[in-house]
Amino acid sequence: MTTASALRYRFIPSGHAAPLEIARAKGATLYTTDGREILDAAGGAIVANIGHGRREVAHAAAAALEEVSYVVPPFATASRLRLTERLLDSWVPDGLTRVVFTSGGSESVDAAIRLVRQHHLSAGRPERWKILSRNLSYHGTTLATLAIGGNEKRRVGFEPYLFDSHRAAACYCLRCPLGKSYPSCQLACADDIERIICEEGPETVAAFIAEPIGGSTAGAIDPPNDYWPRVAEICRKHGVLLIADEVMTGYGRTGRRFAVDHFGITPDVLVGGKGLTGGYAPMGAIITTDEVIAPIAERSAELMFYTYAAHPASCAVADVVLEIMEREALVERCAVQGRKLRQRLEERFSMHPHVAQIRGRGLLLGIELVRDRATLEAFPAEARLTQRVVGAGISDGVYFYPGGSWPAQDCITLGPPFIISDDEIEQIVAVLERAIATAVAKV
Ligand code: PLP
Repeated sequence: MTTASALRYRFIPSGHAAPLEIARAKGATLYTTDGREILDAAGGAIVANIGHGRREVAHAAAAALEEVSYVVPPFATASRLRLTERLLDSWVPDGLTRVVFTSGGSESVDAAIRLVRQHHLSAGRPERWKILSRNLSYHGTTLATLAIGGNEKRRVGFEPYLFDSHRAAACYCLRCPLGKSYPSCQLACADDIERIICEEGPETVAAFIAEPIGGSTAGAIDPPNDYWPRVAEICRKHGVLLIADEVMTGYGRTGRRFAVDHFGITPDVLVGGKGLTGGYAPMGAIITTDEVIAPIAERSAELMFYTYAAHPASCAVADVVLEIMEREALVERCAVQGRKLRQRLEERFSMHPHVAQIRGRGLLLGIELVRDRATLEAFPAEARLTQRVVGAGISDGVYFYPGGSWPAQDCITLGPPFIISDDEIEQIVAVLERAIATAVAKV
């Protein structure tokens, strides 16, 4: 049963006649207004890291709002100061010392592009403006972030508004875009970044941006361990700033505080959103080094701010969300539960005729679906297999995150809250198996 007002809330047609109407959410479970329970195996949009419905987070937001409802982002407030201290003291890799808050992921990437540009301008290098990125990537929905993004499906139709940008080969070993295989490729996809830098002229390149581990665009593509150190070295060699887009991977999602921690690199700019507040408030942050900020500060150049950046309630929420993660050792739990989920997925799906690969780290796991696992032939796009799997999952009580972009056309991403229990892991795996079977039978 759907209420009349829910029927008017149909701004996103998603294959369902009407939106799911959620009455409340607790832990890893969504409760619909018509009495169903849906296990949130996607943590919303891979956001709800600490789980839903924690009262102390709501109380922290209320208390912050009672203190200060709004002041411009450059002013300090108690919640802004607490959060900044916590991030710098306990969360981000050494060397990252300066924080700029925003209201979400796309805004953060947009701000990171402007930050690196301002850095080069202030340092007397106005010719450095190009932002390089990779195929099979996603950096947001603003026009600038769509322009640099490599999710073809999401760019379609908007091309006239998107500035030209250069994208290197994805690090996607299952179907290597360069026709090679690891390790004999010697990381040719990293060399592809250097090729573009050299072709464009290193003196024109401001930054390279990428997700350390992929998101839903291609189902959590996970690079070999030596890829990122090599990319960092290439960027350093050519004076190109390295931006790590950790909007999806940050704040514990991959089983480490940040995904760059798996690879032992420190980017020049670290971009985050989603897990920072665990979905309890809209917020993002870019965190950078003294070296990036120094020329900007020297010239007293101003960084533009968004009106709602560093909102006091969002800062208070983020501070308590991170405190809960520390108190309950949730990053460690994410690593442990992630290993269990992966193991169960491998047991069920590693020989499945329609599963090409299971990948990812921690509780960011992707499953690529194909018509034929031997040839990697995809299902016809019109079959909308991923949407069918997600629909079948919802009907069977589990929400999976849809994704995929050609040639990784059909991908299911799993990103449940870190508090997910062993029984819930069993439920995710069993329902996924049934949902794939139901969807494939209808194609
Ligand atoms: N960057 C990455 C890697 C993302 O995964 C996303 C969202 O999924 C974004 C940027 C955009 O973030 P938002 O949707 O909060 O604007």
